[in-house]
Amino acid sequence: MMRRMFRRQIRKSLAPAVPPILQEANFALSKGEYGRAAELLEQIARAADGRGGPRAPLFYLQAGRSRLLAGQAALGIPSLKRGLELLVQRGQYHRLGEAGSRTVSELNERGLKAEASAMEAWLQSVLPAAVPSAMPAKRGILPTHCPACGAPLRPDEVEWLDEMTAECGYCGSPVRETP
Ligand SMILES: [Zn+2]
Repeated sequence: MMRRMFRRQIRKSLAPAVPPILQEANFALSKGEYGRAAELLEQIARAADGRGGPRAPLFYLQAGRSRLLAGQAALGIPSLKRGLELLVQRGQYHRLGEAGSRTVSELNERGLKAEASAMEAWLQSVLPAAVPSAMPAKRGILPTHCPACGAPLRPDEVEWLDEMTAECGYCGSPVRETP
């Protein structure tokens, strides 16, 4: 009894507070309300960008993606570009390579060929010739969504703390491999 309370307190003090706006954005995303999700994610991204937050690129990319899903490409492309630009500025070239090629294929999938080519050309101009491909060691199997903030989880968008534990890129909560 005592022990359980103790453990719970520890866990509570370690888990970062998840901003309600992030949970709301992920909830909208899960319901397919992409325009609403994008609006919220744009707010979160701008706030994170303003304070130089490490998650700003991911928020911009997710905001842009949501705009594409909402059929609002013109609104989404600036966010996608900003997210990728931040990765350039921060020298996160491995992430840039992954996020960039994903963005190009998502633009192509939506029939935005001109936008996809422009993005590809820009990526080639900013990516160094040899991007070190940091092949990760064995990784666990992630749950589809972060239990804390509800964000959809992808192996390339989390920080692996060890073989079993990843850190959600959106809220920083540790996410454990489901046994
Ligand atoms: Zn999360």
